[in-house]
Amino acid sequence: MKASRFLVSTLKEAPADAEVASHRLMTRAGMIKKLGAGIYTYMPMGLRVIRKVEAIVREEMNRAGAVEMTMPVVQPAELWQETGRFDKMGPELLRIKDRHDRDFVIQPTSEEVVTDIARQEIRSYKQLPKNFYQIQTKFRDERRPRFGLMRGREFIMKDAYSFDRSPEAAKASYQVMAQAYRRIFDRFGLRYRAVAADSGAIGGDLSEEFQVIAATGEDAIVYCPDSDYAANMEKAEALAPTGPRGAATQQMTKTPTPGKSTCEDVAALLGVPLSTTVKSLVLATDLLDDQGAIKATQVWLLLLRGDHDMNEVKVGKLPGLAGFRFATVGEIEAHFGCKPGYLGPIHMKQPVKLVADREVALMADWICGANEPDFHITGVNWGRDLPEPDLVADLRNVVAGDPSPDGKGVLAIERGIEVGHVFYLGTKYSQAMNATFLEEDGKPRPLEMGCYGIGITRLPAAAIEQNHDERGIIWPDALAPFTVVLCPIGMDRSAEVKAAADALYDQLLADGVDVLLDDRNERPGAMFADWELIGVPHRLVISDRGLKEGQFEYQHRRDTAATKVPAAEAAAFLK
Ligand code: ATP
Ligand code: MG
Ligand code: MG
Ligand code: MG
Repeated sequence: MKASRFLVSTLKEAPADAEVASHRLMTRAGMIKKLGAGIYTYMPMGLRVIRKVEAIVREEMNRAGAVEMTMPVVQPAELWQETGRFDKMGPELLRIKDRHDRDFVIQPTSEEVVTDIARQEIRSYKQLPKNFYQIQTKFRDERRPRFGLMRGREFIMKDAYSFDRSPEAAKASYQVMAQAYRRIFDRFGLRYRAVAADSGAIGGDLSEEFQVIAATGEDAIVYCPDSDYAANMEKAEALAPTGPRGAATQQMTKTPTPGKSTCEDVAALLGVPLSTTVKSLVLATDLLDDQGAIKATQVWLLLLRGDHDMNEVKVGKLPGLAGFRFATVGEIEAHFGCKPGYLGPIHMKQPVKLVADREVALMADWICGANEPDFHITGVNWGRDLPEPDLVADLRNVVAGDPSPDGKGVLAIERGIEVGHVFYLGTKYSQAMNATFLEEDGKPRPLEMGCYGIGITRLPAAAIEQNHDERGIIWPDALAPFTVVLCPIGMDRSAEVKAAADALYDQLLADGVDVLLDDRNERPGAMFADWELIGVPHRLVISDRGLKEGQFEYQHRRDTAATKVPAAEAAAFLK
């Protein structure tokens, strides 16, 4: 590619709404252009990166035996009504009507459609296993689209769906995907961690997230530096053997009934005597630091003794709530449109009077039944100030320094960006949609399923969060829009420079190198600034001065100075 033909459109200033490096740099490098909230054009420079991500994903999916197809972006509501998700899913699901007033959705994911295909195509156990995938546009009407491609509303996802005869076979298919994901993320050249994630109603350990490590990540991940233990915070907390921290909570040692706590537990948490009446529950969410960055994204249960009086708030988690999946910040915000930083209070349906030897079904009366995916809270009052940010450490059920559950060391916590997710589904969708196959014994059985996503457009943003400096992006070779940029100096004046640059360009193209020749005749300073911002990893400068010595100047984007490369060896060097 020649720069004069391509679109190189760098900007000095980042947009005012760009809070993180990847958003600023992708915009300044001319890779994306905002069209609306969470909706971006992938400009030519950005699309090249996205295509590289897709190519690696496609190669490894094919290698793992998955079969590519493309399902419609616009999907009839009927299928989504079969699984109940049309009503259950909340406002993240974009619903539209056609001219005949029929309901449709824009796919946020495609379990329904792929299950519909499977129930038509897969008749016999002989056709199993199968894994279908697509690399396609998704739309999720995120409550808070932000950070550019990181949390868009329209984005590209690779979504794959496996179909098997039995739970054992499905788990084997899951493992094949989990391994393929490791190969994919290794090839991207990023630091990442595969962490155990909550598998919700399905149970078991068959859900993992692939998290790119970055301080700006929205997720907290818990790991043990001395072993393989790694989980997202949600999962780590669900498994944490101890109750919540703090004086009041130390007393809670009884084995709880899931979803229920004893009145003594509540009294201990609140530091009140039995016979007190508990009126409200509060959920706290994003706790922000001074810069407005998120310090904690967990959702916590707070108990109020009086009517929403913050002075009477006691913070902690009741033992009966251990193992429950609390709503994520995104889910709750999406539903309520509450301002960041605070959610609450939530009234219990009825005030609870604390009586000895009685269980309180807090989850039952709490309208936010968010231990079930896609289930949302209804009918709640809002609007109070932030809890003290320094409550955060106390709020956590799992903190750095805790013993690792595998007994092999202590836990550390870092932040991550979820770029992939693998999930064993069981028969959740096949049963709802009556997707069966005939077993060897001639009897119909529901298909065993798994689903596997990768955020194709989120991935470049995550890569940048991990790899940038004050001058711009530093792409790993595998993701760079161009691997090599040739920067001839004074190409319009010097026939020698032009000849050398053209010859090297042709040679590199013939060698299959992804090279760009900057033939724009920009001044060296402006030219270098552009490519440092765009983040091309390998740069070769061709000048009269160098040519006199038979040399080009090579500099990797991470190098602080250039090194000389004999002109005759340059092509081999860059290969
Ligand atoms: P998140 O927790 O960030 O909202 P998710 O768990 O809702 O993500 P999945 O349903 O697991 O997302 O989708 C698979 C992958 O799609 C995610 O791992 C992520 O990489 C990507 N993804 C999800 N939502 C978005 C978004 N709004 N913008 C860009 N990529 C996204
Ligand atoms: Mg989400
Ligand atoms: Mg997630
Ligand atoms: Mg996920």
